[in-house]
Amino acid sequence: MEANVSPAGKTLVTLIPGDGIGPECVTAARRVVEASGAPIDWQECEAGAEVFKQGLPSGVPPETIDSITHTRVALKGPLETPVGFGEKSANVTLRKLFETYANVRPVREMPGVKTPYTGRGVDLVVVRENVEDLYAGIEYMQTPGVAECLKLISVKGSEKIARFAFEYARSDNRESVACATKANIMKLTEGTLKRVFEQVAPDYPDIESWHVIIDNCAHQLVKRPEQFDVITTTNMNGDIISDLSSALIGGLGFAPSANIGNEIAIFEAVHGSAPKYAGKNVINPTAVILSAVMMLRYLQMFEQADAIEHAVGITLESGVLTGDVVGYGNGASTTGYTDTIISNLGKRSETWTVREHKPLHLPKLSPDPDYVKPATRAVVGLDVFLESPLSSSELGSSLMELTSDTRLSLKMVSSRGTKVFPPTGAIADTLDHWRARFITKEKPGDLPDEDVNQLLARISRRHTWMHIEKLQEFDGELGFTRDQGEN
Ligand code: NAP
Repeated sequence: MEANVSPAGKTLVTLIPGDGIGPECVTAARRVVEASGAPIDWQECEAGAEVFKQGLPSGVPPETIDSITHTRVALKGPLETPVGFGEKSANVTLRKLFETYANVRPVREMPGVKTPYTGRGVDLVVVRENVEDLYAGIEYMQTPGVAECLKLISVKGSEKIARFAFEYARSDNRESVACATKANIMKLTEGTLKRVFEQVAPDYPDIESWHVIIDNCAHQLVKRPEQFDVITTTNMNGDIISDLSSALIGGLGFAPSANIGNEIAIFEAVHGSAPKYAGKNVINPTAVILSAVMMLRYLQMFEQADAIEHAVGITLESGVLTGDVVGYGNGASTTGYTDTIISNLGKRSETWTVREHKPLHLPKLSPDPDYVKPATRAVVGLDVFLESPLSSSELGSSLMELTSDTRLSLKMVSSRGTKVFPPTGAIADTLDHWRARFITKEKPGDLPDEDVNQLLARISRRHTWMHIEKLQEFDGELGFTRDQGEN
């Protein structure tokens, strides 16, 4: 990564104040960075609520995109997202637009911040995949009553995040990387990250690696968090366990993060815009200040980063704490707390040790779109999602009749992943939403598209279909899972 330089010879950084408490946190971080002497010049840009209100559905104006494209580094405040309707998240838009595939979320016990975990040495980093998974937000109403969200996990995306986690472990002087997935249930999607992680781990013999099931990971994080060093995981799991982890060390006010891609990096707190505290000068700006510290390290300004970390440590040790820690009404104001950090710049904490950091090497993977090249592949059937008021046996009989003289036969009909036709004795609360699985009568089969089109044309005569999936085999391995009750 090469940053861009201002006419004054300083590194240019895009600065997005954000919504709610964002401007207060970002101002605090900017003041601390400037006081540290880091050679940074800012390009201030807009994104979030005001931009949505101006009628731009992405929440990110072209000038902001241009600025980040030019500077390649941004420090941002949280951006508000309407829940459940309307616009996409402007945060997710920024992460995806710039392919910042790694979201790094460190959590470390802070001096002077008492929690039930104090003294246990919690010091871990969640490395979350940042562009794929359910957060890609590819959603549909398949019928008026059934919603769908596509969980896309690629081998390439998994390799990028797995290698990044090991590279980050090296740069942050860590000993182990745990891969947390739900591969026991979602064998193809979550399983891809697990498989790829296990394939790349031998390339990093200096780092210990292990797999943990994500629900147990959540349990272990509460029970014995000190066992973790780096945890890498899929997008949504990472979002959840990183919020959980931040609570172990005093809450979201202390949780910084970095969104890192091969070209661009965006630094921000884990927390959101906490609107109820906006403009009150009470919130804790540490998460954004520590995000700025991560940014300085990314820019290899190690000296200023260490100085700010020490100043934050000394401030907390000395008992200058914000309301989220000591109760609103008793805490230091946001500006007062920031002033104290600035006044502590240049002092070294007796108790806080700054981790040893080395430059981060980003993994470089082949740019080939067909990243995975199987020697053999075949289409062995078709899943068709249908909307029908019929019972499972009526629908099943009708579909069998429709396919009797085709190259395909109906293998089963399922309701939300449970086989209901031919009947299995399952007591499923069925809806008008079904999946019919057709497989080639000849074995091994390789179904041409004409047969797919013919089948769909026949189904359309009697039924409503809304989605199809080809059933494929790659190198003889099934590229689909069986349903509950399917053999
Ligand atoms: P939130 O803004 O993170 O706030 C949740 C709670 O965390 C707050 O009520 C407060 O807890 C605590 N908190 C957060 N930041 C704090 C700080 N700096 N200092 C002290 N306490 C802090 O989460 P939310 O209420 O779910 O989301 C609000 C909005 O932010 C939504 O529009 C959401 O979409 C957006 N959001 C944006 C980002 C982002 O930009 N990256 C991330 C998450 C959410 P108490 O109530 O216990 O005091």
